[in-house]
Order: sequence, then structure tokens, then C-alpha cells
Amino acid sequence: MPFADLGLSDKVLQAVATAGYTEPTPIQANAIPHVLARRDVLGIAQTGTGKTAAFTLPMLTMLESGRARARMPRTLILEPTRELAAQVVENFERYGTNHKLNVALIIGGVSFADQDAKLMRGTDVLIATPGRLLDHFERGKLLLTGVELLVIDEADRMLDMGFIPDIERIVKMVPFTRQTLFFSATMPPEIERLADMFLSNPQRVEVSRPASAATTIEQKLVATSSEAAAKRDTLRKLIRAADELKNGIVFCNRKRDVALLQRSLAKHGFSVAALHGDMDQRARMQALDGFRSGEVPLLVASDVAARGLDIPAVSHVFNFDIPHHAEDYVHRIGRTGRAGRAGHAFTLVGRGDERSLSAIESLIGQPIAWLDGDLASLSATGEGDGDEGRPRRRGGRKEPAQSEARAEGGRAEGGRRVRGRRPRSEEQSAEATAPPEPRAEAPRRSAERVPSERPRENRRPDHRRDDDGDTPVGLGEHVPAFMMRPVTIKKD
Ligand code: AMP
Repeated sequence: MPFADLGLSDKVLQAVATAGYTEPTPIQANAIPHVLARRDVLGIAQTGTGKTAAFTLPMLTMLESGRARARMPRTLILEPTRELAAQVVENFERYGTNHKLNVALIIGGVSFADQDAKLMRGTDVLIATPGRLLDHFERGKLLLTGVELLVIDEADRMLDMGFIPDIERIVKMVPFTRQTLFFSATMPPEIERLADMFLSNPQRVEVSRPASAATTIEQKLVATSSEAAAKRDTLRKLIRAADELKNGIVFCNRKRDVALLQRSLAKHGFSVAALHGDMDQRARMQALDGFRSGEVPLLVASDVAARGLDIPAVSHVFNFDIPHHAEDYVHRIGRTGRAGRAGHAFTLVGRGDERSLSAIESLIGQPIAWLDGDLASLSATGEGDGDEGRPRRRGGRKEPAQSEARAEGGRAEGGRRVRGRRPRSEEQSAEATAPPEPRAEAPRRSAERVPSERPRENRRPDHRRDDDGDTPVGLGEHVPAFMMRPVTIKKD
């Protein structure tokens, strides 16, 4: 079905043509006509399916008539993280080139004053993370009684992050007569309950099951010691030996490990950035920009920070830690193998990871092959020697120590520099100077999961979180320019 048959306005169709899209994706083809018909929509779709345009395109069409009033946004989009919120703004900029709409971004880590000024001017589209939105509301700077359309995006991630009580509060402030679009990659029972509560006679649109990993992804398990230094060593070998590595995301389960691993890889000469919830906004955007542009080909990330980011054409995903939640595995490896491209996903597995592995294999409905021997091939006594479980190069070639000694560029196919030029001596000393491991007895805080485990009433109300950080994040003044300026899109 061509875009022209979906009922979108001419201005939107022009912008779509300029973006170079020839055909709507399945979620767009199925959802857009219902959105335009003012139906509630329950969209079950992951990022990468074109779901953002599935709501931004019809919203732009609908917003062509009517005007915004001060402090009373006409539409509201709720996103779990700042990055996702910023990406939705980018979508409005891209598809709204022929419109004159005020789009406001209300996220943490940015000064209230600028956001207030934008709200005061009147907003057609308000894109917000739940915590900061409620802060504005509580300060009396915002009225949600004019909202005609509400989008709740990434609902299952909102659940993971403990945002559901905030969402329920917000929904109560929006008129009952609104239109609601509700998107989630998965539909656990709690999300079904919310969908029932928030939506009225919705059109259900489901485009791909979360358990269906793209068939273009080569998935491999890599047996490794569970000891951190040895695991990092395994990862380095894996990256160096990887075929066709253009760029890759390395996933860790915990934020603190993201920072640690990034520093360690950098010391070993890799060009690598980090993305986790405790970074301030400027640092996050910098890391993302560097990765997107290809300047920094490796990104170490936590699940929540990386969730839903639109990073096209990632050639490799490395699971430094096997995810605790099987669905996260599908989301992680879904960063690669997009749009029919070949992708590679390697998962480091140590002793003690067996249960997580079998949950993943049963979710995806297939066993994952080992790259070079399973856990039984690890030496029984050698845990922690930093050398065991080291993957050998495919094709039986060994990873010779001298190849590291050369350490020259390590260019991936395609010429991108993945590895820095470092003399062997520096490499050897890098591990010695790598940041110390977190102490085993350090208080165990599952950084990505704590919020949903902690009862709402036990959380400090003044420390509402906008993303995956446990701590209030990024209150610095260094904010990307595009977030500060009013998004007024003018027709030329
Ligand atoms: P999303 O699922 O919204 O994160 O979108 C994933 C990617 O698909 C983004 O890079 C969009 O620019 C792109 N995209 C969205 N709609 C289309 C389309 N109809 N044809 C081709 N690419 C699209």
C-alpha cells in the first residue's frame, strides 16, 4: 500500500517523500488510518519497525487544523528516556518541515526556565518523560486539560523503570475524551491491564513478536570465565577476531560495569564510548552522536540507555553480560541485522549463566550455537586466569600473542578504525592500570531493575527519575543546543 492511500495530508506526504520513504512499514500501514479515524490504537511493535512515524505522521496531519494555547498542550507523548524523547522531536523536525508547529521537549537535566518559556508560548506537541512532566504540573506551569491525543510509547519499558504510577497520574489529568495511542514491544499482564484501563475500544495492531529475532542475525555463545578481568580479555579477543566488524554495541547488565568496561577498552586502544543512565545529558548525546556518525565505532551500553535508540546498521552486538531477562536479549540483538542486513550477536557465557541462557533459548525457540566450545570446555580450575575461554579465531586459527603485539590499527573490514594504535608494552600495562573491579561485597543493586522492585511509596518524591539512573541525573547546564531552542518548523 503506498503512503498516498493512508489518508495523510499533502504536506506530510511531501515530507515523507523527502525522507526517501517509498512504502509504509507494516505498523504504519496498519495504524495510520485508524489514528486518522480518531480511534484508540494498541500498537505492539518494537523500535526499528517504523513505529515513531506511525504516530508522528498522522499527528502532523491532524494538527494542521487548530491552534495551541499557552500552557495547554494539544497533544502529549510520553517516553521513558530522554534519548527516546529527543528522537521523537527529531522525527517531528524531519516530517514536519512543511508545518508550523511548536514542539516542546520536557525532560530532566535541562533547566526548568527554558521549558517553562516554551510551554508558555503554547505547544502543539509536548514530548516528555513522566517525572519532569509531573514536576512542571506540580509547579502549576502546565495544564493537561487541552490534550486531544495522548501517546504512551514503550509502555513495557515504562513498567520496567517503575514509571507506571506516574503514568497513571498523568492519564488522570488528561481529558477522558482524548484519543490514546499505546505502544509496547511486549504485552505482559500488567501492560494488558493498563491498556484496558487507558484505551477505549482500541484497534490492536501487532507487527512482530518480540521473541522473533531477525533471521539475518548470526547468534553465537562464547564460553568465558566469569571473572571480570578474564571476561574483558575474552571480549577484546572477540572484538579483534570479529569478521566484518564495522560498529558494535557492547551490553552490560549494570551501569557501573558500563563505565568500567568502556575505560578498560579505551585503555586497550579501542575507540569506544559509553552510554548509561548516570551520565549527564551532554555526555550521552556526545556518545550517541559519535557512534551514529561512525567516529566512535564501539559503544558500551546498558539496556535502558540503549533501548529504542535509532542507530542504523550496527554490524555487531556483544553481550558482555548475559541479560537477566530473556526479552532483553531479543531487544539487544535486534540492534543488529536490521532491514535485512547481516548482523552478528555474540554472548559471553560463564558458569552460573546457565539459567539465563536456557530462558533465552526457550524464548527464541532455538538453541544458540557455541562459537568455540561450550562451558564444559573451560578449564575446571582456571577461573580467573584471564586466559581461559578465550575464543579462537574462526576457521581454527589461533589468536597469536604477536598479533596483539602488532596492534596496528586493527581495522575492521570497511576500513573503520576499531582499535587504536598502541605499542604492545602499553597494551600490556593497560590491564594493570585498568580501573579496579567493584568489590564483591559492595551492596548489590541491580541498577537497571531497582526502580520497579522498590515500592513507590519508599521512593523520595523529590528524586523522581527520568530514566534508568538511581540518582538524579545530569543537572548540569551543558545541554545540546537543539534541546534548548524552540522547535518552530517554518514553511519556506
Ligand atoms: P523507529 O521504529 O520509529 O525507531 O524507526 C526505525 C527507522 O526506520 C528510523 O530510522 C526511521 O527513519 C526509519 N523508517 C521509518 N519509516 C520508514 C519507512 N516507511 N521506510 C523506510 N524507513 C523508515
